[in-house]
This record gives sequence, C-alpha cells and structure tokens, in this order.
Amino acid sequence: MLPENELVARGLVPSRARLDAGPVVVVECIEEIPCNPCAAACPRKGITVEPSLTNTPKVDFDKCNGCTVCVSRCPGLAIFVVNRAYSKNEGTVTMPYELLPRPVEGRMVTLLDRTGKPVGKGRVVKVRDTKAQDRCAVVTVTVPKRLLNTVRNIRVSGRKVETNPLTLNLSQKGREKTKERVDD
Ligand code: SF4
Ligand code: SF4
Repeated sequence: MLPENELVARGLVPSRARLDAGPVVVVECIEEIPCNPCAAACPRKGITVEPSLTNTPKVDFDKCNGCTVCVSRCPGLAIFVVNRAYSKNEGTVTMPYELLPRPVEGRMVTLLDRTGKPVGKGRVVKVRDTKAQDRCAVVTVTVPKRLLNTVRNIRVSGRKVETNPLTLNLSQKGREKTKERVDD
C-alpha cells in the first residue's frame, strides 16, 4: 500500500483545482496485472488501460464526473471517488465495502486511513448495494476536507464486523484488504 506522497508522485491524485470542482475518481492501482474492468465500466472513457492489459490504469480527471459506477467493479477494491465540494466544511469519500452488516445511512462510523488506523468520525451519506454490483456495496461518508486523501476505509462502530460469506470471487488484493478491515 503506497503512502499518499507516492500516489501524488505517480499522478494518481487529482489537482487541488480539480478536487474543488466536484466529485472525481482516485484509482489507487499500481500493480501490473492483466485487469481492466475499471476501463470497461466508465461510460465517459475516463479510465484507460493501454496499450497492454497489464499496464496500470490512467485517469483523465477532466472526463470523470464522479458518477461512482467504477467503484464496485474493481476486484482489487482500489477505486474511490472524492468530493471536496460537498459542503463548506466537509467533503465525501465514496469507497467499496464488502463486509456485513452494511453501514446504515445517517449513522456515524469510524474513518480509517490506508493502514486501517482510525483518523476520525464521519456520517454515512449513501449506501448503494444493487444486484448488479455483485456483493460489493458502494458507501459514501463525510470526512473533514483535510482527510479527503487519507480516508480509504471505515469501521462500523459498535457492530460486529464479519466477512461477507457470499463474497467468493475476491482477488488476492481484495482478500488482503478484507483481512485488514476484519483485523482492525
Ligand atoms: S467515477 Fe464515473 S466517470 Fe469517473 S472514472 Fe469512474 S465511471 Fe468514469
Ligand atoms: S485492479 Fe481495479 S483499478 Fe486496477 S486495473 Fe483492475 S479494475 Fe482497474
């Protein structure tokens, strides 16, 4: 898992001007594996995996409108949408979530960084969990604006966290991420 400064150096973090303009995708995928559901999912062709299937994805932040469609399509759970324009004091982070029970809209949750360390509290704004998402919910939470590039996971406070028994097709990367969530 890369630290934030490395993600910036690799061009994976949108500019401050783009962040201020509204929701935008952040694809934290750096492994050269044969994979491209993210590119196939984007209706605006905002993500490309070229010229080879093993190239890492490239994002055109100006094509992306932050629709979140691609978030549940990544087997590596590596795609997020951040929105710095959500309100005066808060932004939102939209993330994949494969655990049960699901977060509940309106409830507070613990915000976690990339290493699983708690960094604050946020409110669940939206949970999208349709059949087409293949057991990967897409959860949007409020975060302090200064933590937009830090928060990448959540813990549902006061609830037992279990691995989704229906999740049978996680990639190794996805399994590792699920383990991090359960171990936290
Ligand atoms: S958030 Fe929507 S527009 Fe942006 S890259 Fe993903 S699918 Fe494309
Ligand atoms: S792991 Fe996710 S972000 Fe990386 S190429 Fe595959 S679908 Fe795209």
